[in-house]
Amino acid sequence: MPSDIDTLIAALHPHVAQGYCGNFLRAGRSLRPIGANGILHDVVDSFDILFGFHPGCDAAAVTIQTAQPGTISLFVCPSPIVPQDFEADVKQWVDQFIAVHKGSAGEADGNGNLEGKPSPSMRKFILDTYRLCYQSMRQRKMGPEFGIWKILSRKIAERTLASKSEPAKLQELPSASELRQLAELAKSFAETISARERLDEDEDILRFHQLCLALYKALSGGWVKELTAYPLHDLILAHLCLPHALSTLLSESAAQPEVLLALHTSRWSITVLDPSRGARRFSSTVTAAHMAERFGKVNVRSIDWEEAMEAYRGVVVRSGDFGKGLEWDASTSLLTSPGAVTAHPETTLIQHLVGNGGVNLKGDERYVACSRLPCYASVRYVDAVNKVHVVKPGPTFTIRTTNPDWCRLDVAEPWILPEGTDEAVVAGLREAMLWDLDGLLYRWRNDAFRKREDESDDNDDGDGGDHDDNEVDDEEDEDEDEKSDNENGEMDDDTEEPDD
Ligand SMILES: [Zn+2]
Repeated sequence: MPSDIDTLIAALHPHVAQGYCGNFLRAGRSLRPIGANGILHDVVDSFDILFGFHPGCDAAAVTIQTAQPGTISLFVCPSPIVPQDFEADVKQWVDQFIAVHKGSAGEADGNGNLEGKPSPSMRKFILDTYRLCYQSMRQRKMGPEFGIWKILSRKIAERTLASKSEPAKLQELPSASELRQLAELAKSFAETISARERLDEDEDILRFHQLCLALYKALSGGWVKELTAYPLHDLILAHLCLPHALSTLLSESAAQPEVLLALHTSRWSITVLDPSRGARRFSSTVTAAHMAERFGKVNVRSIDWEEAMEAYRGVVVRSGDFGKGLEWDASTSLLTSPGAVTAHPETTLIQHLVGNGGVNLKGDERYVACSRLPCYASVRYVDAVNKVHVVKPGPTFTIRTTNPDWCRLDVAEPWILPEGTDEAVVAGLREAMLWDLDGLLYRWRNDAFRKREDESDDNDDGDGGDHDDNEVDDEEDEDEDEKSDNENGEMDDDTEEPDD
């Protein structure tokens, strides 16, 4: 059964790798974090970002469970290994978090901005974090993505030039000084990151932290969002996620003080999960015969496996883009990872919680923070777990899936089921993936049909094609709407969940 999932991931790849299907493959509404737990989510997200920047980590997933009064249970799964000293460092971060908030009563500045004098415990938290994580923050952001800072400065320069020539008629336009300030902060950040391999001196670290926070604040203005536009704005903010997470953990939020109080007066129990459990190679034969043999007799679906292979050959084999960490052997039609891979950390974490029986599944919401955007397969996995393990109206596992790029599998490591996933979850996941594949093939077929129509229009007459094109568009949209209403991908509005 687990290898069925490998095969389905391969069959879905030509469609999921295309960014455009993000709107078609929706995450279930039940996966959305509950708004009322805002501060708690912020704390979990922020810890997760710190853990994800630990040297040796690529990513981490974290949850905090508060089912037992007086105890906070923190579960963390790093990826792809448990780095050296990881557990001790996690404990130290938690201790420092508690120390900052215990000590902050009556202190003037609790917001981490360092405008006032930071308390000794805050100072230590900041210094220790950058000493441990500055280099991974730098390395991760110095890749090809670093070019975004050049793009930003070019956009600011263009905007500055434009505002000189046009009268300040719109309120949303930034002032010259706002533009100058943003340009200076961005320049200074990019220069520090590219020039300084390490930050050793206390004062250097504190100055860098302050610079990052000032830049983050400057980037949060509405006009900056317009200037940079998605996805550039998100990418830029992601470069500042470590300082931002740090400031969130240091801040004394005015809202929900009782949540913070519970966090730093409770006893913390910390569990670090080993991601290498159940590591294995991803492997699947990708042929129509193999797929038909495994899935051909599914009752509700009638997928044409020859067509699925046509999509696979046309998109994946032709481009050579088999997905990150996967290799294709054309002579045997075998798709494999060269070595063992581990399950994505959020799935290992959730499997631990449901598989262990030791965790009270009737507790509060089970929000899982993921330092990297959950991928398509992880999202469907969480959904399948919720359907099997949650006794309604019990709390569900929730994860953040609002970013339209969530579905992309081509940038994530090969996806395998976590060890010990029970059969009901595998069956649910298999079913959901078949639904998606069916819908995606339908779309793919329509796109191919439209392309052929366009081509024949072009051949028949040069200028009479527009009207026909529109007709085909409308038809397709209608069919799609109808289709997605029947699917497990729920709509983004507040309609009732069409579950079960
Ligand atoms: Zn994933």
